[in-house]
Amino acid sequence: MNLSNSIEKIPRIGPQYQKRLKKLGIETIEQLIFHFPHRYEDFSNFISIAETAKEIGKTICLQGKIASIKNVRIFRRRMTITEAQVEDSTGKIKVTWFNQPYLINTLKPGDFVFLAGKMTSKNSRKYLSSPAYEKIPDFFAKFPANGKKYDSLHTGRVIPVYPETEGLSSRWLRFIIKPVLAKIKNKIPETLPETIKKENYLLKIEEAIWQIHFPDSLKKAETAKKRFVFEELFFLSLNILSEKNKLAGEKTITVPINLDLIKNFVKSLPFELTADQKKSAWQILKDMEKTKPMNRLLNGDVGSGKTIVAAIAVLNAIKADFQTAFMAPTEILAKQHFKTINSLFKKLKIKIGLITGKENFIGTKKIKRKELIEKIKRGGIDLLVGTHALIQEKVEFKKLGLAVIDEQHRFGIEQRAKLCRKQKFLPHLLSMSATPIPRTLALTVYGDLDLSLIKEMPKGRKKIITKIIPPEKRQEAYKFIRQKVKTGRQVFVICPRIEPSSVKNAEGQVFLLNEKTASWAEVKAVKEEYEKLSKDIFPDLKIGMLHGKMKSEEKEKILKNFKSKKINILVSTSVIEVGIDFPNAAIMLIEGADKFGLAQLHQFRGRVGRGKHQSYCFLFSEFSSNPRLRAMTISQDGFELAEKDLKLRGPGDLVGQRQWGLPDLVMSSLENVELIEKTRAAAKKILQTDPELKSFPFLKEKLRNFRKTVHLE
Ligand code: ADP
Ligand code: MG
Repeated sequence: MNLSNSIEKIPRIGPQYQKRLKKLGIETIEQLIFHFPHRYEDFSNFISIAETAKEIGKTICLQGKIASIKNVRIFRRRMTITEAQVEDSTGKIKVTWFNQPYLINTLKPGDFVFLAGKMTSKNSRKYLSSPAYEKIPDFFAKFPANGKKYDSLHTGRVIPVYPETEGLSSRWLRFIIKPVLAKIKNKIPETLPETIKKENYLLKIEEAIWQIHFPDSLKKAETAKKRFVFEELFFLSLNILSEKNKLAGEKTITVPINLDLIKNFVKSLPFELTADQKKSAWQILKDMEKTKPMNRLLNGDVGSGKTIVAAIAVLNAIKADFQTAFMAPTEILAKQHFKTINSLFKKLKIKIGLITGKENFIGTKKIKRKELIEKIKRGGIDLLVGTHALIQEKVEFKKLGLAVIDEQHRFGIEQRAKLCRKQKFLPHLLSMSATPIPRTLALTVYGDLDLSLIKEMPKGRKKIITKIIPPEKRQEAYKFIRQKVKTGRQVFVICPRIEPSSVKNAEGQVFLLNEKTASWAEVKAVKEEYEKLSKDIFPDLKIGMLHGKMKSEEKEKILKNFKSKKINILVSTSVIEVGIDFPNAAIMLIEGADKFGLAQLHQFRGRVGRGKHQSYCFLFSEFSSNPRLRAMTISQDGFELAEKDLKLRGPGDLVGQRQWGLPDLVMSSLENVELIEKTRAAAKKILQTDPELKSFPFLKEKLRNFRKTVHLE
C-alpha cells in the first residue's frame, strides 16, 4: 500500500463508502490519512465500577464483563432500549443504549468490554448511558489491567472525533484509518528539513500522523497538530518569500516622482484625500522609484477611495512617459473605471483606451479593436482600461510601466507576466482589494512590507443602518422596503449560501454536496426566492435575478437594467460582482444571514450606501443572537470585523479558506502571531542558505504542489 494508491485498495471499504469519501474529496490513501480529527475525547482513565457512583454527570471509562443483555421495547415512544448489566470485581452497573437493538448480536453475556460514556442518575438509579463500547480479548480483561495494555480503538484512550459527515461516522473512520496507518507507517515521506524540526521541537511526520489520529495523550495530540500547523504556515511563508526573492532579483525601469504634477492634481480634486490615501499613494510612488518591480497590494474597504490612489500612480507614470494598464474583473466594472478616470483626467490631455470583450473606445469615441491594438503597440495610448481582454495575446504595449489590477485578493503576478510578454522589463504592479485582511493574515500571506492599507473612510459618509430581522418581523421589513421602492430606491436580495455537504430535500433526506452541486443548489434557491418575491410579496414591483450559472451577456444585461432602474429589486447568489457602483441602491437584504462569514456580510453591505440616500442592511435570520450578526450591527469597520471574524470563526467555517485556498489548520491558527513569526523565520533561514532549495528536493516538490492548491499566484 502506497500514499498515492486509491482508497479502493483499502480492504473493507465498499463502493458505497468510497463514494461518500470521494464526496469529501478523499480519493487516495494520502488524502485519507490527512483527513484529521477536529477534536478528541479523553477516554483513557479507567475507574472501577465501585467508583462510578461518585461520578454522576461525568464521562467515565470502565472495563468489565457483560453479565446480561436484552432489548426492551417501549411501544408508546416507538423505541428500543438495550439494557445490560456489566460487572467487575468491585460491583455491577446498568448500561443502556437507545435504538441500537442489533447490539445484542455484538455484545454477548460473558464478553469483556471497555465502555466509555456519561454516568447518569434517574430516580436515584445510577447507570451508564449510551457509552462507546469495544469488545476486548479475555487476556486483557483483568482489572486493573495487568501491565499489558490492549490497543483499543474507540475507548480506553484518547479518541479522535472527525468532522461530522452524513454516512461517515467517527467510529467507522477510526476503524478504517488505523490499519491503514499501520501499513504505511514507513512510507510517509518527511517534508520538513531536520534542522527546522529540531529548532522548533516538531515531531517527525510519521509520528505526527500517528499521534494526530491516535494520540497517546491530549498533549501528544496538540504536539502533533502543532507540527502540521507549523508545516502549512512554513510553506505559506516559503512560497511568499521565494516569490519575493525572485522579484527582488529582477530589475525594471524607475519612475521618478513628479511632485508638482501630483500636488496640482490632488488640489484639483473636489475633495481632500484622507491621511491613509495620502500615505498609500506615497508608498506606491516610492516603490516605483526603485529599480525593483513594485508588487504592492492596496487594501481598503469598499468605498474607501482606492481608485483615486491608483489614479495618482497612473498619472505619475504617464507623465514620466510610460504606458499604464488598469484591469477590472468584469466589463461593467471596467466601463465604470473608464468613465471615472476619463473625468478625473479630463484636463490633462491623456489618451485613455477601453478594451473589453465587446466594445473598444478611445476617450468617448468607439473604435475597432484592431485599430486600438495598433495604437497601443505604437505607444499612442497612455492608459488602457479593460477586462481580461487586456491580457490577451494580441495586446502588446510599447512601454508599459505600471499595471493596476482591481478587485482581487492576491497579487496578479500571472497577469503581469502576460501583460508584458514582449517587453524587456516587468511593469510595476499594483493590486487592489476590498476584502479587509486581518493583520496576522497580512503578515503571513503578504508579508508586511508590500501592503498599503486604507483604514479610514472619506469624511461625511452616512452610516448604513443595520438590523437583524427575525422571522416575526419579516412582513414589517417587506412593508418598509415597499415604501422605499415607492420613493425610487432599489434593493438587493442575497440568497443564503449553501455549504457543500449538507442539504436537506423536502422529505428531510440529507444529501452530500460538493462545490459543484452546491452552486446548483444556490441557483435553485435564487429562482425560488425570485418566484416568491415576484408572485407573492411584491407582485407590483419589478424583480430581477442574477446567478453564477447565467451567461455573462445575460448577467451584464440584468445589471444594466438594474443600473438604469428598470429593475426595483435584484435577487442574487452571493457570487455577484463586487465593486460596482449603484448609487441608487439603498437596501441590502440578506436571507439566511447567519450562513455567511462576517467578511462576506460586510462585503454585501458595502454594495449599498454609495449614494446620497440613507441606506439599510437587513440581516434576515432565525438566530438573532448570532455573534456575527451582532458584530455587524455594532461595527462598520471592515478591518475590525475581519479581526473579529477570525476570532469567531470555528474550524467549520471556511469562508476564508475558500477565498484564499488556505488549509483549515492554517485558518485556525492565524491568530497565533508568535507561531507565524517562527515559521517565517524558518523559511527565511532556509532561503538564505539555499535560495533555489537545491539541497531540499523534497521541499521543492512540496512547494510546487502547495502552489497548486493555495491561490496566491
Ligand atoms: P473603492 O475603494 O471601493 O474602489 P472608490 O475609489 O470607488 O472606492 O471611491 C468611492 C467614492 O468615494 C468615489 O465616488 C470617490 O470619488 C469618492 N472618494 C474617494 N476619496 C474620497 C475622499 N478623500 N473624500 C471624499 N470622497 C472620496
Ligand atoms: Mg473599487
